[in-house]
Order: sequence, then C-alpha cells, then structure tokens
Amino acid sequence: MRFDILTLFPEFISSVLDESIIGRARKAGKLEIYTHQIRDWSEDRHRRVDDTPYGGGKGMVMSAPPLTAAMEAVTAMGNIDNARRIYMSPKGRLLNQKEASRLASYDRLIILCGHYEGIDERVIDLCIDEQISIGDYVLTGGELPACILCDCIGRLCPGVLSDDECHEIESFSGGLLEYPQYTKPQNFRGLEVPEVLLSGNHAHIERWRYEKSLELTKKLRPDLL
Ligand code: SAM
Repeated sequence: MRFDILTLFPEFISSVLDESIIGRARKAGKLEIYTHQIRDWSEDRHRRVDDTPYGGGKGMVMSAPPLTAAMEAVTAMGNIDNARRIYMSPKGRLLNQKEASRLASYDRLIILCGHYEGIDERVIDLCIDEQISIGDYVLTGGELPACILCDCIGRLCPGVLSDDECHEIESFSGGLLEYPQYTKPQNFRGLEVPEVLLSGNHAHIERWRYEKSLELTKKLRPDLL
C-alpha cells in the first residue's frame, strides 16, 4: 500500500509515522509513505499558499492553484489504477473500522491535509474523490487526521502486524468491543485474573470472551448493537 500525503508540515507526519509498528513496516517495505510539501507548488515568491476568503470573514483559505498543481503532480508520481484521492475534512465521512477496511482495499491513497479555514472548494471539485473526517470536532490542520488514517489503514495491510499483533479479533472487527485482556502477574493489588483464563479449556475461554465482549459493548457502546 502506498500513501502520499500533501501537507504544509511534512516533518509533523514523519515524526508520527516513522515510529513504532508503522515505522517498522515502512523500513521493511510493507508500506510506502511519502510526504510532499505543498509550498513546493506555490508560484508566489514567498511560497504562500493561502489568501483571504471571498465574501469576507476571518481567517485564510488555502488557494486552488498550488493545491491543484500539487495534487496533479503527486498523483502522476505513481500508479493511479486503484488510487483514491482523499481530503481530510471535518465535513467528510466519519472514519470507523468499516471505512478503514474499505479504504485498505485501494493500492494507493493520496491524502490532502488542509490548514487555516480550509481549502478552496474548487480543489475538492477538481481533485478529490472523497472527504474523510476523524470525528465531529475541528482540529487546526489535517496532519493528525492523516496520521490516524494511515495508522488505522496501514495496520490492516498484509505483513504490517505480526501474528502477535493480529487485528482480526479486536474491537469493532466483529461488530463488538474486544473482551478484557490480562497478563502477568496473576494477582495484582488483590485483583485476580478470571479463573477461566487459567483453565486451559479453549472452548470455555472463547465463550467467556464472547460473553464479556457482549457485556462490555452493551455497557460502553450500546449504539454498536
Ligand atoms: N473551516 C473548516 C470547517 O469549519 O469545516 C475547518 C478547517 S480546520 C480549522 C483546518 C483543517 O484541519 C481542515 O482543512 C482539515 O484538513 C483539518 N481537519 C480539522 N478537523 C478535522 C477532522 N475532524 N477530520 C479531518 N480533518 C480535519
């Protein structure tokens, strides 16, 4: 899977996606993640990419010429047969595990991060296939949302997680929250690990886990049921 991220802050993206499991997968060649500085496509001598909004109002809007040029140039840098162009936006489809699985079926995601008051609408008309939001709140820029998108899609890609880190049985994958997990010590501050987990009886353990998943989902996220 290849990700191309267009941003005003490439180092921000690298500082997150060079680390831990995603960083390891990049080094192993399981994921390709490229960042692109949008200012490189600015024709302004001060490398500006924003301007005041038509109609008035506060703040600045990222302008169409550099963004469109950047999107077109970056798109042409790789295969576009199974690519999707995404704008991170609070107006977009809400990201969840199902959306992440759907997006993981593409070979390439080209992700545009906005800033300031957002971007000129014509960039969306011309260069974007869909908008994705990470939640019903507004952040200062699209960099954190882009990192979240890459992390949750990246970990679904083949070879990114080891067997120990499998994503098949975890929260949301079967429509329920994951069951509670325990590790050593067996007794911690008087709290014991549930006995069934020590029994070695896999059928009983499976049943217990399913019941706990259901119980937790009813309690914490009844909307999922
Ligand atoms: N004025 C815009 C609005 O009300 O929809 C918000 C602009 S926001 C301050 C700046 C940028 O942050 C956006 O262009 C977008 O790329 C990103 N952003 C902010 N919140 C986001 C969210 N919940 N999901 C995805 N991207 C978000």
